[in-house]
Amino acid sequence: MNNRTLLICIDGLAGAYLEDPSVNAPHLKKLIKEGSLVSRLTTTYPSVTWTANTSAITGCHPDRHGVLGNSVYDRTTNEIRHHWGDQLGSKEDIIKVSTLYDLLAEKGMKTASVCWPLTREATNISYNIPEFYDQALFEQYATPDFWDELKKTLPVDRYGEWSSDFALGDKQDWLTKEILLYILKEKDADFIMGHFLSIDSLLHDYGNRSSQVYDAITYIDELVGELMAYLDEQETDVILYSDHGHLDVHTAFYPNRLLNENGLGYSFTAVSNDGCLFVYGTDQTIDRQQEAKDLFQSLPYVADVLSTDAFPERGLPKIDLDEFGHTPDFIVELKEGYLSKDDVEAGELLGDSSYLATHGYSPEHPLLKGFMIASGPSFSSGSNIDEAHIVDIAPTIAVTRDIMPHKMDGDPLSSILTKGGNTIEEPAY
Ligand SMILES: [Zn+2]
Repeated sequence: MNNRTLLICIDGLAGAYLEDPSVNAPHLKKLIKEGSLVSRLTTTYPSVTWTANTSAITGCHPDRHGVLGNSVYDRTTNEIRHHWGDQLGSKEDIIKVSTLYDLLAEKGMKTASVCWPLTREATNISYNIPEFYDQALFEQYATPDFWDELKKTLPVDRYGEWSSDFALGDKQDWLTKEILLYILKEKDADFIMGHFLSIDSLLHDYGNRSSQVYDAITYIDELVGELMAYLDEQETDVILYSDHGHLDVHTAFYPNRLLNENGLGYSFTAVSNDGCLFVYGTDQTIDRQQEAKDLFQSLPYVADVLSTDAFPERGLPKIDLDEFGHTPDFIVELKEGYLSKDDVEAGELLGDSSYLATHGYSPEHPLLKGFMIASGPSFSSGSNIDEAHIVDIAPTIAVTRDIMPHKMDGDPLSSILTKGGNTIEEPAY
């Protein structure tokens, strides 16, 4: 019987790294040995953080939860909007299905969350520090009493500064770990979520298999080790996973310049999700849509152009889920090595990329797949699985807490669950 669950996202770490002999991660390897490993965790389409982690915590694909990309177009204001930094508004307005923590809270359990995407104003998180890049938002939206309590012993007044600068990501993750430890020691939370970002940041800046990335993996492994040292004698389930991996990039592509140069700039707006781009037109420009699609398809660095008919099989909605109209008219997938940029001013179509690796591509590439490690009383030892989907995380945890996840898209990974744990029988769907 477990008495609490700790769920941690290690952002950007491909499952392949766990098999890389150059990786020094003794604490992760100990957890794999004691628990079970999903070697390859397929992520959402597109393979971006805010979409993927919303799928992890809801057990649903984006066509139901509504977070379609890191960046989308708001057709009511004609603006590009970014989810990152949790800028768009309340979780209750944005996520259109129940999350795992909602279901646990409804059963009377207490929940806590540190630096988790899209948790702003979440009503069912008792102790909540969302993932902001702006100190003023922390001050405004972190759970007030809890935030005041943390201020007495931890430098939470620097969370905004440390979260908004990739180079300070190690400090951000250190603070996240400290707050998680504080919750574990001082609070009666049954379900605790945390999100470490520095590996993802260093992958963007230095590329796959750089020394900086290997060092960052060792650093995060040490933070996990500190949490595990505290949890050693406790009946706690620990689930670690990654939301996506990265592909190396060398060239930036500017789709809005392409549209402008071809007289389509007034009709369409391209919104970058790095490895793919969403293209939005209006009802008045539908007759030029094929022209715009053909233009993108003719480029040698475009992998595919997807019409809305191709969205449902990838877990994206064909039609808008609400009045904001985030569903694009079509999606352009880029080939490995290229990422897209939103810039509209005149200039070259291609340029140097400031990132050396990124994601957002179609999720099939082996290096874009994450992993999941599950250890603790509810999980068996050594029952490894080659492949699962990120939507399977929430239903798997749900059954360890006696919740039947019948409304989720994903399935519980029954083969890694202990028979004598909280799972009484195979749930009916
Ligand atoms: Zn991510």
